[in-house]
Amino acid sequence: MSNFIIINIEHGLTGRLGDHARFSGALRVRDGVIHEMGNLQPEAGETVVDAKHSVVCPGFVNTHHHLFQSVMKAVPEALNQPLDPWLMEAPYRFWPYLNEEGMRTTVTIGLAELALSGVTTVADHHYVYSDRYDYNPSDVLCETAARFGQRFVLGRGGLTHGRPWHRDDIPPAPATSLEHMLDGLSSDVARWHDPSPTAMTRIAAAPVTTIFNLREGEVKEVAQAARHLGIRLHTHLSENDTYVNTTLDRYGKRPVPWMAEQEWIGDDVWFAHLVKIDEREIDMLSEAGTAMAHCPQANARLASGIAPVPRFAERGGVVSLAVDGTAANEAGDMAQTLYAAFILHRTGGQADATTAENVIHWATSGGARALGLSGIGTLEPGKAADLLVLGLDHPRYFGQHDRTVGPIISGGELRLRHSFVGGREIVRDGVVPWLDMDELNEKSLQTVDILKRGAQRAH
Ligand SMILES: [Zn+2]
Repeated sequence: MSNFIIINIEHGLTGRLGDHARFSGALRVRDGVIHEMGNLQPEAGETVVDAKHSVVCPGFVNTHHHLFQSVMKAVPEALNQPLDPWLMEAPYRFWPYLNEEGMRTTVTIGLAELALSGVTTVADHHYVYSDRYDYNPSDVLCETAARFGQRFVLGRGGLTHGRPWHRDDIPPAPATSLEHMLDGLSSDVARWHDPSPTAMTRIAAAPVTTIFNLREGEVKEVAQAARHLGIRLHTHLSENDTYVNTTLDRYGKRPVPWMAEQEWIGDDVWFAHLVKIDEREIDMLSEAGTAMAHCPQANARLASGIAPVPRFAERGGVVSLAVDGTAANEAGDMAQTLYAAFILHRTGGQADATTAENVIHWATSGGARALGLSGIGTLEPGKAADLLVLGLDHPRYFGQHDRTVGPIISGGELRLRHSFVGGREIVRDGVVPWLDMDELNEKSLQTVDILKRGAQRAH
């Protein structure tokens, strides 16, 4: 269905700011691209989508996730822990026991959650690569995303040394040599990377956490290798005070100026979190066009803090939104992330710190900028038809004076009537048509069981 017209659009959000934030009328798609918008009539024989009592907006772009964690939710030992012990108790406790079937299951769960909460583009940060695996996680990730029909950016990670856990029951992190990591990156680029502005699959260079998991010279080497390959750079940065204090102790500098010295700054870089950044760091990042993947729920859940998002946006910084791995955020639900971003920043005492228009802009256009996908992110002629039709047929939305912002500011599960990627429908009436949920549920139980047994044996 890559040629169609959406009619009766009363509540349209473009993902743009200012006078262009809203639209109404109709929207015509030709060959997967938005052809025209406005006062249009269906042509003879044209497929029609009726948007009566619905909101039409761009598909959401989730710029940071760890799909392998979708079978590591609600781990009791990790549930009430801050970031550093949580890392041990959740992802690093279980990674060795994720076989290929388990990997496929966890990726399917995560992508299903995202698809059903309006995500049309996913950036996954995967850093668990090991000789213990008899499969390449990158292939499982990219193949599964292709099955869902979502655009997929794989942040191909890795680490050259793990943090010391000082615990016998936690397996060491899957460290490899830098050469091995860069070889894996090059072969993933050769197999999967498409540089086009509407790519379905891309690769980025994404060491897990540069400050903790690479040695000093290696950080710059990764940046240079990535630019040589023509790919973007991604990592976790300044998620909590430990990042800042470690960088200050080790290098006498705060994380952003130190990373800038390692050539990790520019409009081809996006960082997850940036919770602990000062005014100078905000200026450096916004001037360079380096984007933030704001993960409000994981930052709250792990007691890391609240990123200075309104300030960063005010200074011209590129803000995008992200769910983050679900070992630190028990649902991979992007609509919840929009709601969290909308409400959380007001706790600082400023009721207009965020608006619904800002939030949808960050979740769509901001995400596209962070990932360098210039052909998506807004609804305007010439952009790919990545868009959502969100029903307002739930009492949550009844009584709202401005119904257009309902799905952004009310929270709760979306009424996802249609989700399109490049004009191809990937979700209809809250269902991924090819996906057997009962089977996925069974597989999730089996995978959790395998992980638990593996961890128990190590105890
Ligand atoms: Zn993360």
